[in-house]
Amino acid sequence: IINRKNARGTRAREETMKISGIFEKKKALLSFEIFPPKPTADAAAVNGTIAELAALRPDYISVTCSAGGSGNARTCEIAQTVRACGVEPLAHVTCIHAGKESVRGTLDGLKDAGIENVLALRGDRIAGAEESADFAHASDLVRFIRAGWDFDIAAACYPEGHPESPDLPADIRHLKEKVDAGATHLNTQLFFDDEDFFRFRDLLAAAGIAVPVQAGIMPLVKKSHVDRIIALSGAKIPARLSRMISRFYDKPEALAEAGIAYATEQAIDLLSAGVRGVHLYVMNNAAVAKRIAGALAPVLAEINGGGDAGRP
Ligand code: FAD
Repeated sequence: IINRKNARGTRAREETMKISGIFEKKKALLSFEIFPPKPTADAAAVNGTIAELAALRPDYISVTCSAGGSGNARTCEIAQTVRACGVEPLAHVTCIHAGKESVRGTLDGLKDAGIENVLALRGDRIAGAEESADFAHASDLVRFIRAGWDFDIAAACYPEGHPESPDLPADIRHLKEKVDAGATHLNTQLFFDDEDFFRFRDLLAAAGIAVPVQAGIMPLVKKSHVDRIIALSGAKIPARLSRMISRFYDKPEALAEAGIAYATEQAIDLLSAGVRGVHLYVMNNAAVAKRIAGALAPVLAEINGGGDAGRP
C-alpha cells in the first residue's frame, strides 16, 4: 500500500488494501458505517460527510446496501467516494432478494470500481419481495464470492443471537459455516452490554472461530434512533442506559451527550479487554464520529503501539 499526504494533508490512496492486511498490522481497528442516499437523492450531502469522516482517519468505512434492487448501485458509488477520500471502503452486498446473475453484476461492478473488501450479508427481508432461489443464507453468498472473486470477505455476527435463531449455539454453528466458507473478519450487530460481547467471544473461541471480531457500537444520540433501535434490533438495554434514555428522551442536547458518553465508555471497555476493533454505526453523523474518535485516539494509539497517534 502506498499512502502519500496530498496538499490538503489528507491521505491520497494510490493502491487499495484488504482489511485482513490491516488486521495483520494493527491490534485494534476503528471503522465507521454509513448508508448511501436514496437512489433519487443528491450525493452532495453524503459526500461532505464522507470527507469529514475520512479526516478522522478510520481504518475503513463500510457502506450499507438495501436488500432490494436499486440499493447496490449507490453502495458502489459511495464506496468509490470513500476510496477517493483516502479511506478503504467495505461495500455491503446482500442476497436474499437477488439471483446469481444480479449478484454477479454487483460484484463485477465493485471489482471494476477497484473495491477490495465486501461484507457478505443475507440482508433484511423486504415484505412482499420475492426470495432468492439461489441464496438462502449469507454463507451461500460467501461461497459464491470466494469461488469467483478475490475480495476480502467480512460477515455479520450477533452477540445476543440473531433474532430468527432458536438459540445462540445454533446461531454460532451457522456463523462457523460462514467463516469456513471464507469470511476473514466479523462485525457484530449493535449491543449495549459489553458482558454479552465477552460471553460471545468465549463461545466463538470454543467453537473454533478464530477470525478477528469487531464490536459494533451505536451511539444513541437521537430520540428517533432510540425508538428505531428498541423496536427493530431487539437489543437488550442495560439499566444504566435505560435511565439515561428515560431522563433525557425529550432533551436533544442532553440525550446526545449521554449517548456519546455511553458509546465512548463502551468502546474503551471493549478495547481495554482486547477487542480487535470498534465499528461505529455513526448514522452519517460526522460530528458524533468526531467526538468518539477523538476520545478513542489516545486509547487506540496506546494499543497499537503509538503508530496512529495522529488521529484527532
Ligand atoms: P445469515 O448469516 O444468513 O443468518 C441469518 C439467520 O439464518 C440466522 O438466524 C442464522 O442462524 C440462520 N442460518 C444461517 N445459516 C443457516 C443454515 N445453514 N441453516 C439454517 N439457518 C441458518 N442488512 C441489509 O439489508 N443491508 C445492510 O447493509 C446490512 N448491514 C449489516 C451490517 C452488520 C454489521 C450487521 C450485523 C447486519 C447488517 N444487516 C444489513 C442486517 C442483516 O442483513 C440481517 O441481520 C439479516 O437478518 C441477517 O443477515 P446475515 O448476513 O447475518 O444472515
